[in-house]
Amino acid sequence: MDAKKKDYATVTIVYWFLLLYIVAVLVWWFIALQRQNNQMYMFRVQELKKDDPAYFEKMVEIEAQRKSKTTAYVGEGATFLLLTLVGAVFVYQATRRQIRLSHQQQNFMMAVTHELKTPIAVTRLNLETLQKRKLEEAQQQKLISNTLQEANRLNDLCNNILISSQLEAGAYLLNKDELDLSKLVDDCVHNFAVRYPQRQIEGQVQPELYVEGETVLLQMLVNNLVENALKYSPKEGKVTVVLKQKHQHAVLCVMDEGAGIPDAEKKRVFEKFYRIGSENTRKTKGTGLGLYLSKKIVNDHNGQIAVTDHLPNGSNFTVTLPLT
Ligand code: ADP
Repeated sequence: MDAKKKDYATVTIVYWFLLLYIVAVLVWWFIALQRQNNQMYMFRVQELKKDDPAYFEKMVEIEAQRKSKTTAYVGEGATFLLLTLVGAVFVYQATRRQIRLSHQQQNFMMAVTHELKTPIAVTRLNLETLQKRKLEEAQQQKLISNTLQEANRLNDLCNNILISSQLEAGAYLLNKDELDLSKLVDDCVHNFAVRYPQRQIEGQVQPELYVEGETVLLQMLVNNLVENALKYSPKEGKVTVVLKQKHQHAVLCVMDEGAGIPDAEKKRVFEKFYRIGSENTRKTKGTGLGLYLSKKIVNDHNGQIAVTDHLPNGSNFTVTLPLT
C-alpha cells in the first residue's frame, strides 16, 4: 500500500468512527429524552384525580404536551443530524483534497529536484569533456547543441515555476497588447523543429490572426502544449499544430499520435501538480505544472482549453481565444 492509500485509509477509519459515535450519541440522547418525556406523562396522569370534572380536558392537554415535546425532540434531533452529516461530508472532502494536494506537492518536489539535477549534470559533463579533450568539430557541435537543449529545458522549467507562483499570488501583472498569434505559433513550431530535428512537427497556421494578449505567456502556452505532445508520443509519431479562425475566435489545436488521455483523467490533467499514473510507473519526466499553467494563461486571456481524443490515437489539445 502506498503512502497516499494509507493516509486515505486512516482518515476514512477515524472519520467513520467519529461519525458513528456522534450518531450513536444523538440516538442515545433522543431515547433518554423520550423516556423522560414518558415518565413525566405517567407522573402527571397519576396525579390526575378521576373524579375531577375537568379530567378529560386535562388528559387531552397532557397528551398534547407529550406529543409536542416528542415533535420538538424529533425536529431538533433531525436538524442536528442533518447539520452533522452535511459538515461531515465537507470535512471528508476537504481532508481528502488536502491529502491529495500534499502528495502531489511531494511528487512535485521530487520531480523538480530530478528535473533540475539532470540538466545540470549533463551540462557539467559536456563542458568538462569540451575542456579536457580535443574533439573534432562535429563532435563539439553535438555536445554544444545537447548542452543548449538542456539549458532550454532548465529555462522552461524555471519559467513555469516562477510564473505559476506569480500568477497564483496575483503578483503577475498582465501586460496585454494586440499581437500576431499566427506569427507567434509559427515561430514556436519553427523553434521546436530546430530543437528536435529528428521529430516530425507540422504547422498549419492561418496567417494574420490577432489576439489581445501577452507574448511571453502565450509563447509559454504553445511551448507547453507542443512539448507535451512530443514528450507523450513515440519518436515516429507526428505532432500537428493547427491555428485557424472560427467565427470570432482563433482556434489552436495541438495533436499528437501518442497513447492519449483516458476520459476519467481529461479534466484532472489541468489540476496543479497532477500527473497521470503513480510516480513509480511514470517513465517521462515532468512536474505536473505545464497544463495547470496553460489553463491559467488561457483563462487570463478569456479563452478556453480542452482536451479530446485525436483519432485513431493520441490527444488533441484545443485552445480558443477571442480575436481582436
Ligand atoms: P508534466 O508534463 O510536467 O507531467 P503537465 O501539466 O504538462 O505536466 O501534464 C500533466 C499530465 O497530463 C502529464 O503528466 C501527462 O500524464 C498528461 N499529458 C499531458 N499532455 C499529454 C499528451 N499530449 N498526451 C498524453 N498525456 C498527456
